[in-house]
Amino acid sequence: MAAQRIAVVTGGNKGIGFGIMKELCAKFSGIVYLTARDEGRGRAAIEELKKLGLSAHFHQLDIDNAESIAAFADYIKKTYGGFDVLVNNAAMAYKAAATEPFGEQAENTIRVNFFGTLALCRAFFPLLRSHARVSTVSSSAGHLLRINGNEPAASALRQKLSSSTLTEEELCELMNQFVKKAKDGTWKESGWPNSTYVVSKIGVSALTRIQQRAFDADPRPDMVVNNCHPGYVDTDMTSHKGPLTIEQGAVCPSYLALLPPDIKEPRGAYLWYDKQIVDW
Ligand code: NDP
Repeated sequence: MAAQRIAVVTGGNKGIGFGIMKELCAKFSGIVYLTARDEGRGRAAIEELKKLGLSAHFHQLDIDNAESIAAFADYIKKTYGGFDVLVNNAAMAYKAAATEPFGEQAENTIRVNFFGTLALCRAFFPLLRSHARVSTVSSSAGHLLRINGNEPAASALRQKLSSSTLTEEELCELMNQFVKKAKDGTWKESGWPNSTYVVSKIGVSALTRIQQRAFDADPRPDMVVNNCHPGYVDTDMTSHKGPLTIEQGAVCPSYLALLPPDIKEPRGAYLWYDKQIVDW
């Protein structure tokens, strides 16, 4: 008998993540795990899905907490032996009016959005099965051209980030360098942009490309990871200024999570919310 298929969505309790949950519950042939860092908010979202006639499982997962990641990975391994679909949706963003110093914002945003996503992937990728699909929610802010600090330093950064031989370790080093420069006040002259969120999303977009190269060399066949800009969506993160609904924002991330077996593209790509591949 074929193994039970399993999908996991991070930050599934609200916003685009909740939209992705609705889409996967309706279309994925298997069990969909709604994960949330707060158990109460996560279970309340499961009840909301029930009211819509949709059924999902719940597990606590804070991508900013190594123990939480390890506990969930252990649970998936022991319960199912592996899994099939991962949607990296969870992220944070400071509001434009935030008063925390730039260095502090950089440290927290890069830690959650980049290093949290990376830690989750490192713990969960060994459990992925053949034909696995990983869908990472980046942003229009994750486009390489958003590295627009002082030249020529910005060009040098863009070159490093888009190199086809960039390693995960080198990317981590670049992210750490940004946090250091943000703290000592030299980020702009070092080429970095004036937004910690932009750098965190460029980090996950660059990570996707590295991860696809590793998948291509993996003995498990046909593993695919892509990332996308979900559109400007009406959620708490945008203070409800985005024109798109969460259902519209969920379209591209869900499409990437449900890509059929043996597709030629997209693989390791950056997509727009209309599902078009965009040159990163
Ligand atoms: P929301 O703020 O509405 O939701 C974010 C979700 O992530 C919440 O479920 C939140 O949980 C969760 N989360 C935050 N930190 C953690 C953590 N450490 N561990 C686990 N979950 C966490 O944002 P959106 O729905 O707007 O954003 C979803 C994704 O889309 C993000 O990656 C965002 O960067 C991206 N995006 C959004 C755009 C938009 O227009 N809305 C545009 C471009 C990209 P909790 O409820 O506990 O806070």
